[in-house]
Amino acid sequence: MSHHDERTFVMVKPDGVQRGLVGDIVSRFEERGLKLVGGKFMQIDDNLAHDHYGEHEDKPFFDDLVEFISSGPVFAMVWAGADATRQVRSMVGETDPAESAPGTIRGDFGLDLGRNVIHASDHEDEGANEREIDLFFDDEELLDYERIDAAWLYEDH
Ligand code: UDP
Repeated sequence: MSHHDERTFVMVKPDGVQRGLVGDIVSRFEERGLKLVGGKFMQIDDNLAHDHYGEHEDKPFFDDLVEFISSGPVFAMVWAGADATRQVRSMVGETDPAESAPGTIRGDFGLDLGRNVIHASDHEDEGANEREIDLFFDDEELLDYERIDAAWLYEDH
């Protein structure tokens, strides 16, 4: 696997779906040069919500978070590219939209910590990207292909 193939997990949350932001968000990652390798429009059940946000179990916002994330459809995705996990996080912004720079997804589309539009794997949590991909996708749902512009995206292609 080349370093162009680092994968990361991204999900438009129920607020982003309801607000019609799926297309814009997908476009940002496509235009950046990342490769879409999986996508699923789905509703998260209580079990998956607990598994996905398990690390926050003891936090005061946990119950509201679990209820919110399973309250409507989400669009789950896997994006691949060089340094994908860190680059996607920088495009997403800070956890709190109010602290996120304009130009980031949360900085352009959100104002409230509890309605921050998008999830992306934490690049500072080693292996979080692959763990979250495994939680949401089966192997056969992740497609192997090359973008036709790969040779123009990477000098060392
Ligand atoms: N969250 C919240 N209140 C808080 C902190 C977090 O509602 O005080 C929610 C918010 O939706 C955030 C999610 O919990 O996206 C997970 O928190 P984390 O610290 O993992 O932030 P993220 O990785 O999403 O930036």
